[in-house]
Amino acid sequence: MALQIDISAIVANWKALAARAPGARAAAVVKADGYGLGAARIVAALYQAGAREFFVALAKEGRAIRPHLPDDARINVLSGHMAGADLDGLVPVLNSAEQFFRDRAMRPCLPFAIQLDSGMNRLGMEAAEWSAIRAEVLALKPAFIMSHLACADEPDHPANAAQLQAFRDMTQGCDVPLSLAATGGILLGPDYHFDLVRPGVGLYGGMPFADAQPVVRLSLPVIQTRPVLPGEFVGYGATWTAGAPRRIATVAAGYADGILRALSSSGASLFADGVACPIVGRVSMDLVTADVTDLETVPDRLDLICPEQPIDVLADHAGTIGYEILTALRQRYERIYL
Ligand SMILES: *Cc1c(COP(=O)(O)O)cnc(C)c1O
Repeated sequence: MALQIDISAIVANWKALAARAPGARAAAVVKADGYGLGAARIVAALYQAGAREFFVALAKEGRAIRPHLPDDARINVLSGHMAGADLDGLVPVLNSAEQFFRDRAMRPCLPFAIQLDSGMNRLGMEAAEWSAIRAEVLALKPAFIMSHLACADEPDHPANAAQLQAFRDMTQGCDVPLSLAATGGILLGPDYHFDLVRPGVGLYGGMPFADAQPVVRLSLPVIQTRPVLPGEFVGYGATWTAGAPRRIATVAAGYADGILRALSSSGASLFADGVACPIVGRVSMDLVTADVTDLETVPDRLDLICPEQPIDVLADHAGTIGYEILTALRQRYERIYL
């Protein structure tokens, strides 16, 4: 089971997204261990390429990458200052007045940032909460003020313009760097770029960055092949029955490895040198079965994620998004960095 991760493609995607927002600095979002691909390796390569701002969800994730980055790299923690958090060497993005006062009491001279809610209603201070403490916050010079877009992957969605206006209203007259755009926001255009952009999924080859270079290849070893006769079924629940003589290959990975069970007989395939071998029957915990009848010879490995079936195509088959496909690929794979 090998998960091949092309670090140079991640760097190229970061540079390409940074070039779409020429007036802004480009950060890199590496939460959830770099969207499941290994944050330590990714941040070191992106630092080399010029990235100095990194975002993680949790302080624990920040501590894991801190040793892999020089001191001038800033690691911002999106969950902010939670009670009891160890934020040594990290910058909390404070999401509420409560977090702000906690942080200033405990880390009075250390850097912090602010998140405002511009309409998503997930994280950040609401307008009224913000206006009550705004002067006090600004006097202490936050590193930046940010907000997050709910619908940036749908350019025509009216929430984009509404959130942009709300963010402008709340930050008017603030002499502090501003940040609103993730991958989707970068692609919405310069109105959304402000001073700092925060791409995540686009770095890893995911939509909505359609021009991304592919980053991941997932190759699964074939354990066994067998002929099945018309009328024979394959897998749990006997959900697939051969209509004609077929050859079935069984590969060594399953839903315990993040190969979502929703991919069972979904139209998704395993690939051998560009030839599609449809997944047939149910994905089980450690095994997937595919119809390899069309192959002249069955190779040692079949690919689930490859240029013929990138993460977003696989996500469509599973009824989910590329983000979930990536972050579901957990630790059981041997990771090979290119
Ligand atoms: C996850 C996240 C990002 C990155 O989003 P992508 O869509 O992956 O580019 C940026 N900002 C915040 C607040 C996030 O939660």
